[in-house]
Amino acid sequence: MRLLSGRDIAAVAGIADLIAPIAEVMASVSAGGATLPLRSIVKLAGGNMFGIMPGAIGAPAVHGAKLLSLYPDNPSQGRSSHAGLMLVFDAVTGLATGCLDAAELTAMRTAAATAVATRALARDDATRLALIGCGEQAHTHLTAMRAVRDISRVCVWGRDGAKAAAFARAHGIDVADDIADAVAGADIVCTVTPAEAPLLRAEMLRPGLHVNAVGASIPSLQEIATEVVPLVRLFTDYRPSLEAQAAEVIDARRRGLIEPGHSIAEIGEVLAGRAPGRISAAEITLYRSLGIAAQDLAAAVFLLDRAEQRGIGSVVDMS
Ligand code: NDP
Repeated sequence: MRLLSGRDIAAVAGIADLIAPIAEVMASVSAGGATLPLRSIVKLAGGNMFGIMPGAIGAPAVHGAKLLSLYPDNPSQGRSSHAGLMLVFDAVTGLATGCLDAAELTAMRTAAATAVATRALARDDATRLALIGCGEQAHTHLTAMRAVRDISRVCVWGRDGAKAAAFARAHGIDVADDIADAVAGADIVCTVTPAEAPLLRAEMLRPGLHVNAVGASIPSLQEIATEVVPLVRLFTDYRPSLEAQAAEVIDARRRGLIEPGHSIAEIGEVLAGRAPGRISAAEITLYRSLGIAAQDLAAAVFLLDRAEQRGIGSVVDMS
């Protein structure tokens, strides 16, 4: 079994390298090529959580699970808020073949998956990016958006103005005093926070916008106002996760703001040509990312293969 630390992963590949394997697995997921039980969450003391994300994919043929400590206060101590391990097993032998740092893997694969969606859904001439949140995912999403669109202006908003300003300085980008200002000047918006109350509101939307709603992965959190849902063409990584975990969609259904048959396409269906992507320059598209084990497995296999080719990581005989 090969062990890859966060540093090993960063040495092996960049986010742009993961776009192709993630796109491939998303198409396969939407064609029924994966088994993905919903993520289990164990609530811990102090508002912390432990998440378990199992799954099996057919190509490459592997199964495994990501085990994540979700500790929101960790960044104030210089640690990732998503700490843990990704275990990969070979489908033929059943043997464990890889164990990877889940913090780096999650940071990279989530942004790569958003890049896949943005490439498919944002206007071709989208050049202005707004980041709502300035943590780890904001950092990786900046790289990911630059990989798929010719981004010429970036603006960040954070609830802590000093942190947002430091993030902006570190990346040479602009900082916004409020979310409406950040969104007003953007063609692409990425929301990357565990907000408990909506940040992106209906009155902030403009024709042609593409939104990537990435944070708030459990139903007790909500970044996107419920009223936004009927105003956008909605896309997601995996419909069962969306229906169970996306608070704004659950609330929109409960309040009758969208019909039971409201169109919500998986990004894999768009990639395979089985669902339309953006239809007009003026419509607003929203990609709701919940995160699935298939993305972790595909990214992990890519990283393990590259690490083997380059002799990176440690190999342990578990027998
Ligand atoms: P970090 O802890 O590194 O950063 C979180 C950011 O959100 C910080 O800027 C933080 O501000 C801000 N924030 C926290 N609470 C609020 C709030 N109530 N209102 C506004 N801003 C807030 O986390 P990550 O960047 O790693 O993750 C961000 C989000 O993305 C999380 O919700 C996480 O669960 C989700 N996620 C989703 C994945 C997916 O596949 N869809 C995968 C991985 C993560 P401050 O510094 O002031 O605390």
